[in-house]
Amino acid sequence: MRILVTGGAGFIGSHLIDRLMDQGHEVLCLDNFFTGHKHNILKWLDNPYFELIRHDITEPIRLEVDQIYHLACPASPVHYQYNPVKTIKTNVIGTLFMLGLAKRVKARFLLASTSEVYGDPDVHPQTEEYRGNVNTIGIRSCYDEGKRVAETLAFDYHRQNGVDIRVARIFNTYGPRMLENDGRVVSNFIVQALRGIPLTVYGDGSQTRSFCYVSDLVEGLIRLMNGESTGPINLGNPDEYTILELAEKIQKTVNPDAEIQFKPLPQDDPRQRQPDITKAKTFLGWQPTIPLDEGLKLTIEDFRSRLRSS
Ligand code: NAD
Ligand code: UDP
Repeated sequence: MRILVTGGAGFIGSHLIDRLMDQGHEVLCLDNFFTGHKHNILKWLDNPYFELIRHDITEPIRLEVDQIYHLACPASPVHYQYNPVKTIKTNVIGTLFMLGLAKRVKARFLLASTSEVYGDPDVHPQTEEYRGNVNTIGIRSCYDEGKRVAETLAFDYHRQNGVDIRVARIFNTYGPRMLENDGRVVSNFIVQALRGIPLTVYGDGSQTRSFCYVSDLVEGLIRLMNGESTGPINLGNPDEYTILELAEKIQKTVNPDAEIQFKPLPQDDPRQRQPDITKAKTFLGWQPTIPLDEGLKLTIEDFRSRLRSS
């Protein structure tokens, strides 16, 4: 099949491309390199079944493809808040153009949505039926509301134009290739511990997250794309940790001498997050296989070798 991956030079997109190329597909990687990098897809650049397209999805584009994995959008709060208006444009105008493309060429379209559509949830763990608790005017809204509109667009193109859609609600995902300056918690703590500087815990660290290793997530995305259910379907690892527990785990593993430093909690930071993955288990036969300790080890090794050579 010929498969388009938007945001393919980013963290999740590049791991997805590795899997799709290994499966023998023809892959088009589209990216504007805002948070993505050529080195993430370097090994495919000379492969005749791989094509790299530098393009910003807020502009229209004509391509012929069978499937579209739509991942283009900065995912870290630091990056999506850098230019919030651009984040909204990417989610709304960009998703509109990609759905228009899917409609024209009759491609199956998978949206990389997010657990952020649940906002600061008052239902725990979060099921797909929960409609969320999102602030429309806060600093996270450009991303949260952007993704909510992207989901609405996907379902309206499905109902109105018969576009074959899949919607994944992805929970916190980590692994090799996260940027050093990504700003998300796993990469921040690992880089800080490796550098011997204090690990920055925001608030008192009692807020929770559930961390999914990237290879598990990619498997879930591929199963969703090729299965029968439109979703939305939660994809994430239900093992839940407080942020302080995560800091202590990384401190213990990497550098017991590194201190833990408490910093102010950012506005609208969700208090708790844990996916209910009953649907993913039932409809996709999917559940995560890599425990946090094992995934962290692989991620730490990747950061260690990158920091050594930089
Ligand atoms: P990332 O920032 O590493 O990747 C995003 C990619 O999209 C980058 O390569 C970036 O350059 C590209 N991009 C951004 N704006 C673009 C635009 N206007 N035009 C073209 N390309 C553009 O992030 P990631 O962690 O790989 O996330 C990928 C997708 O998964 C995102 O849509 C994100 O919202 C979603 N997601 C990720 C997580 C997570 O924990 N990593 C959780 C929930 C949802
Ligand atoms: N966080 C933290 N220290 C950091 C970065 C993040 O304590 O250096 C916290 C953040 O406040 C949030 C959690 O870790 O409560 C997860 O943050 P991240 O940005 O990774 O993802 P998101 O908030 O989007 O789930």
